[in-house]
Amino acid sequence: MSHHGVSYRIFERKRQGSTDSKGHNMIARSQELLDAIGVRDALAAQSYASTQTQIILDRVPLARLDTRDSGSRYEAVLFSGQDVIENVLADSLGDGNAVERGRPVLGIEADEDGVVVSVGHVDADGEKRSEATAERLRCRYLVGADGVRGTVRKAVGLDFSPTELEGTAIRQVDAKLEWRRSTDFDELWFFLYPDGFAGVMPVWEGVYRLFFMEADTDMPAREPTLDEMVARAREVIGDETFTMTDPVWFSYGKFKHGVAPDYARGRVYLVGDAGHTTLPIGGQGMNAGFHDAVGLGWRLAMTLADACGSSVLDSFAPERHGAHAALGEQQLKGFHQLMDRSRLADAAVKTVSGFIPNLASRVFGGSDLAQLELAYLDSPLSEDHFSKLNPKRHGAARAGDRAPDAAMTTVSGDAVTLHQEIYNPDGKSWGWRLLAFDGRDAGSRADLSRGIAAVAAWSWVRPLLVLANPRPADDGTEATRCLFDLDGLAHHSSR
Ligand SMILES: Cc1cc2nc3c(=O)[nH]c(=O)nc-3n(C[C@H](O)[C@H](O)[C@H](O)COP(=O)(O)OP(=O)(O)OC[C@H]3O[C@@H](n4cnc5c(N)ncnc54)[C@H](O)[C@@H]3O)c2cc1C
Repeated sequence: MSHHGVSYRIFERKRQGSTDSKGHNMIARSQELLDAIGVRDALAAQSYASTQTQIILDRVPLARLDTRDSGSRYEAVLFSGQDVIENVLADSLGDGNAVERGRPVLGIEADEDGVVVSVGHVDADGEKRSEATAERLRCRYLVGADGVRGTVRKAVGLDFSPTELEGTAIRQVDAKLEWRRSTDFDELWFFLYPDGFAGVMPVWEGVYRLFFMEADTDMPAREPTLDEMVARAREVIGDETFTMTDPVWFSYGKFKHGVAPDYARGRVYLVGDAGHTTLPIGGQGMNAGFHDAVGLGWRLAMTLADACGSSVLDSFAPERHGAHAALGEQQLKGFHQLMDRSRLADAAVKTVSGFIPNLASRVFGGSDLAQLELAYLDSPLSEDHFSKLNPKRHGAARAGDRAPDAAMTTVSGDAVTLHQEIYNPDGKSWGWRLLAFDGRDAGSRADLSRGIAAVAAWSWVRPLLVLANPRPADDGTEATRCLFDLDGLAHHSSR
């Protein structure tokens, strides 16, 4: 909302920011979205960049997954700590905006025109809430970003009970690491072994995360100790030099998943864990929350500026609720593939080591861990009149797809990418870019010219000419921003 210049207030129950490093990976799609609101680079400055994932089965290296050819200009996954990420985001709010801490939302009353929110105070020595002094505030829209326990979703009848997957649990520690493998913070390691699944991944400030997903029968139902974690790592990984020191965070948990019945009720919206509980497969929980928040932010900004019809805001819930339902299914599949492996299947996989198609899918339930293929084909905002009619367009970009990125040049010869031009390069924080491709056909220019003229009255549609043919001076589109795609890269990726 800060990025879009909308006035807002954020109430946080806790008086102090969290120091838990919980969500630590920022995948490519998240980085693109965070860049669209101008905060990605500040987060990258406090992150390690990783492009390599090693998968090891029963101590035998199986495969190396590389993110460098993902189709995003953010080819590295960034690793930080959720506490660091939250601080960076809070610092980016800008003058006059801040997270108001020690302010629990106690109740809400929504009507057709707005929402009344009761906000209490937490006293200095703890979590004691004062309802007597609660402030009643009226707003036009309310966003419940209040996490897994979700006061807001309960108040509007969107509560859900996550399903617990019995018989297994996860324990983890974030600490300094010494072992025989690299400690350059640019790689991840996943270990499959007969009794479970383990991982070693960068966090931030010299810290690595070690986790084990295993049957809960042999796992104490409490946070682990450092000695327990190191001893188990030595057994599983087979490296007697494996040592961890200076732990910053321990965690133990059961596996739960679920999605709220909807993401909107009247003028109240849910984002992040308030709307979903995700399994830890592929590290998607916090990332999905970024997606929710950015997707709701521009819609609210356009709506509050009276710059769109109701369908724009109405499209948030079906888009993001649908995405979470699909993500939940993918993660559940990945969970069962990981945790219900048979020794026979593991042995078969080992014999074809290096030749396993879709290994990421087999391990994580889906190969698109960066969420770059996430599309909103069924969104109320997506209308596609071509794809189904013309089978030759198979594989082409469809309405609702993420626009593929591509390298191009400006008229003055500077190198840019299509995404840099889509995400608000002209200082406007919302609206649509109309990409007008000439299709390598100089004869198409008259049609493009007519199309651009047809949207001239809509200030929120900004045309961008993408020309594979050099530009003649007199085609009636001189005033339109123009990029050259003389090598056809953008034409090919968006064909
Ligand atoms: C052990 C662990 C590891 C994880 N690892 C990853 C990972 O690697 N990658 C990943 O993407 N995700 C990961 N996650 C998930 C990620 O941490 C969550 O998805 C993320 O925290 C959700 O953010 P949120 O802001 O929606 O909710 P939360 O982080 O829960 O924040 C909600 C906030 O709302 C406040 N609040 C609650 N009720 C009220 C109220 N009534 N009034 C005012 N404030 C209120 C809370 O105090 C809290 O600060 C992990 C989670 C855990 C537990």
